[in-house]
Amino acid sequence: MLIDPTMLVPQGPWWLVLGQAVGVYLLVDFISGIIHWSEDRYGSETTPLIGNAIRKNILHHHRPRHITRITLWEAASPTIFISLSIFGLGTLLGFFGWQLLLLMLLGMNVNTVHRWAHSTPRELPWFIRTLHRLRLIQTPKHHAIHHGLPRVTHYCAFTNWLNPVLEKIRFWRGAEWCIAALTGIRPREDDSLPGVGQTPQWIIDLDKEFRVSARERGSAET
Ligand SMILES: [Zn+2]
Ligand SMILES: [Zn+2]
Repeated sequence: MLIDPTMLVPQGPWWLVLGQAVGVYLLVDFISGIIHWSEDRYGSETTPLIGNAIRKNILHHHRPRHITRITLWEAASPTIFISLSIFGLGTLLGFFGWQLLLLMLLGMNVNTVHRWAHSTPRELPWFIRTLHRLRLIQTPKHHAIHHGLPRVTHYCAFTNWLNPVLEKIRFWRGAEWCIAALTGIRPREDDSLPGVGQTPQWIIDLDKEFRVSARERGSAET
């Protein structure tokens, strides 16, 4: 049978269940890195299906704090839909079980964790600051490495644990080398880097919109 609800209950010795749970936690981090890297390095705003996601990444590199100014639903919904899709696909492929459910539940929170990594301590409740202190979710300091220069490292956005390993083995550069060797396609230049390009006009227009709405909020409060 494809779907057996009893498979949603972890079974077996505790150390095996714990080991699998840690594996799922790191897999969520790895999947977040793969998706983030592919959107940062390939395609463009006009690429069919994923162009809108790439546009959000371009905006995020130009305006990293924008993610804290939109609603939680706007920030979190992309990873919620991706996680639901992975759960559906995994079920069809015969991976239904507690591990797949955990993957979906953790995965749904990737962009929320990312938003917290761009928030100041004053903007976060104490329990999120505790999760940062315990290094159970990615910390602002760790995520800031991705937004530094040259902005082509530390793509995983859920924990602090996988990025150093992937950078050590030069995973992303190796993947880019393989893609270039097999297809001739080279990564996209990041126009948020100094000297590479200018801020796109649509981002400047968005800045104006946000300034106007902030002013309107301010005058409504007074
Ligand atoms: Zn990025
Ligand atoms: Zn970020």
